[in-house]
Amino acid sequence: MGKVTNFPKDTGVNPWFETAVNKDRTYTDLSELQDSYDYVIVGAGFGGVMAAYELSKNDPKARIAIFDALKVGTFSSGRNAGFLHISQVSASLVGFDKFTLEDQKELCKLNGIVIRRIDEIVKAKAPEIDFRWDGMYHAVREARNVKALNALASEFDRMGVKYEMFGHEEMTKRLGTDFYTQGLYTADCVLDNPAELIRALAGALPENVSVFEHSVITEVKEGKTPSVILKGGREIKASKIILTVNAFIKNFGFKGQEISDVSAIQSFGAMTRELTDEEMKIFEGVQPWGITATHPAGATVRYTARRRVFVRTDIAYASEKRLNIPEQRFEQAKPLLRNAFVKRFPTLKDVPFEYTYGGLIAFTGNTNPLFGQIAENVYAGTTSDGSGVSRASILGTYLADLIQGVDSPELDYIIKHYHPNYLPPEILRTPGAHAALWWKNVKAGSEL
Ligand SMILES: Cc1cc2nc3c(=O)[nH]c(=O)nc-3n(C[C@H](O)[C@H](O)[C@H](O)COP(=O)(O)OP(=O)(O)OC[C@H]3O[C@@H](n4cnc5c(N)ncnc54)[C@H](O)[C@@H]3O)c2cc1C
Repeated sequence: MGKVTNFPKDTGVNPWFETAVNKDRTYTDLSELQDSYDYVIVGAGFGGVMAAYELSKNDPKARIAIFDALKVGTFSSGRNAGFLHISQVSASLVGFDKFTLEDQKELCKLNGIVIRRIDEIVKAKAPEIDFRWDGMYHAVREARNVKALNALASEFDRMGVKYEMFGHEEMTKRLGTDFYTQGLYTADCVLDNPAELIRALAGALPENVSVFEHSVITEVKEGKTPSVILKGGREIKASKIILTVNAFIKNFGFKGQEISDVSAIQSFGAMTRELTDEEMKIFEGVQPWGITATHPAGATVRYTARRRVFVRTDIAYASEKRLNIPEQRFEQAKPLLRNAFVKRFPTLKDVPFEYTYGGLIAFTGNTNPLFGQIAENVYAGTTSDGSGVSRASILGTYLADLIQGVDSPELDYIIKHYHPNYLPPEILRTPGAHAALWWKNVKAGSEL
């Protein structure tokens, strides 16, 4: 039996949700809540929503309910930087696990499967949302980070991934800022408004799926007929339960080494108001773009299709008991966000941020996710690095297949490889992680 001991909470104001065209749409009314379903999913992020699509595809008559403590699109799936990229390279963060060429190709293949599926749903059901195949840049400013950019290029060569490399002059022309000295561009990346996207996907689910917002789950009971208890005490039974609750899986009362090997960090974001025609002059002839820094602690920046600039920077360790961001830590991030913006766009130094916020990212030491059964008829999927949108979508999709007995080579691969490596207990992990993050920030220099 899992009693939940900690619940997700918003930090700051999420710009993606506030500016989403579908911000005011509603989902299933609580008056329609049944006492039992075939499948109950807790967590309406990409993990939960994509699980529901697959469960429903495999069994169109199944009755499925998704519960989320918050409004859809307000937690991590709606507050990320909006990069949905196929070509990714995995590298262990802690320990010596090595990824083979086959592993790297498999991740890109799985990313491709779920991202193309999302693309099809968007084209068919929500073409109006901000979802564009703009591609992305991995970029550097400091000469000492060029080596890492070249290493990424070599890995892409080995994997057969197409990319273009640009120097300072071309980067400046493409971005409207001369901050970056070199960049590597891949075209197979969507840039989106993540809150708009997850709200659209949840809204386009087939009729056999009900989505209940503001529905906090306080307990999960395993067993032959497992159930969840809603805040207020109502019990909802199911034949199987899927938990796609991000790092909160650590607070659901289930035990297991792989659950304790899940860790989490927090990061922070800010978005300007819409730029005026005068301010937009620096972006004349520039297409909307997204950049992630090649240095792991560097800032992520976007010039959006809606005339705004978005910045994400600063990373904090989130221990098991501190998954929600303390107010004081959020305050600490604000000047760093401002600094990251101003040094990239000095001519826009007087443009204020309209929104500033923080969010949670689950990670594991070897960047392999938690996937599979955690108790009788209870299953869980938790992401494992900063590229969590496609990963959560993979976890949801293949948890559904696992539960419904739909075999595939992809599922076989996932069952074999998706196991987090050992991380020391929290008492040692917390100081270790603080020290490692502090050192990474120091080394990032002006890339922050
Ligand atoms: C600032 C930031 C930038 C990021 N940028 C990117 C990016 O550009 N690209 C990318 O791929 N990834 C990015 N990520 C990571 C990505 O957002 C996450 O890894 C991904 O959204 C995780 O999806 P999920 O479905 O597993 O979890 P979530 O989206 O967190 O969904 C879990 C849900 O569970 C619900 N829940 C938890 N406990 C309970 C409970 N007791 N009862 C009911 N509901 C509950 C929560 O409310 C939440 O909605 C970023 C994350 C952050 C914070």
